[in-house]
Amino acid sequence: MNLRHVTFCALFTIALTACADKHSAPTSPSSVATIASSTSTDSVAPETIEDKTYKEIDYPTPNFNRERVNEVKGVILHHTAEPTVERSLEVLTDGKRKVGTHVVIDIDGTRYVMCQPTVVTYHAGPSTLNGRDGCNNFTIGIEFQGNTLESPLTDDQIASAIDYLLPIMSQYKIPLANVVTHEMVRNAYKARHPQSKCLGKVDITQTEYKRVMERLTKAVEAQKSAVE
Ligand SMILES: [Zn+2]
Repeated sequence: MNLRHVTFCALFTIALTACADKHSAPTSPSSVATIASSTSTDSVAPETIEDKTYKEIDYPTPNFNRERVNEVKGVILHHTAEPTVERSLEVLTDGKRKVGTHVVIDIDGTRYVMCQPTVVTYHAGPSTLNGRDGCNNFTIGIEFQGNTLESPLTDDQIASAIDYLLPIMSQYKIPLANVVTHEMVRNAYKARHPQSKCLGKVDITQTEYKRVMERLTKAVEAQKSAVE
């Protein structure tokens, strides 16, 4: 996402949804995985990106809707457009800004999990997916650290996103077609509401989206054939 823009959009969303601020975000116990390493001096096969595991850190955001449960029918991909992950985390947990996400994925693949999939948080603003407005209520948000207009996603970011997404897509039966970019759902909203003042911005680029989808599609297919 573009945070400045989403701030605007999120404020718009907030205006439509009452929101109390008393609780902290519900999160599961931290599951910290570390990158597998061998202590053996024997030669081992070089680690491939598929074998890597990524650190996952609970980083709750106070910016979520206490009044409804996320239906988890889709996934919206964003980039933070902030220079550092520290800055992105600061913005996405700033109670005054009312923007949030489910997970931030740093360039080394580290995941900062801000809330569970069933939580409604504020990442999509005015948005439409499959003809339905208000994507925050039925999608989860993935924020890739960085700006894909300036530099591509790292392989670690994509692999980490897939590790995060596979179990969720399987549990909630999210089809690949419902994994989209922020720009796509925003454009769909604008097409449906031509009077909307919401600005269109790239978030994330279609090139990076295609890279993610190519790898995600393979991973979903591999998961299916492993089950069969
Ligand atoms: Zn976005």
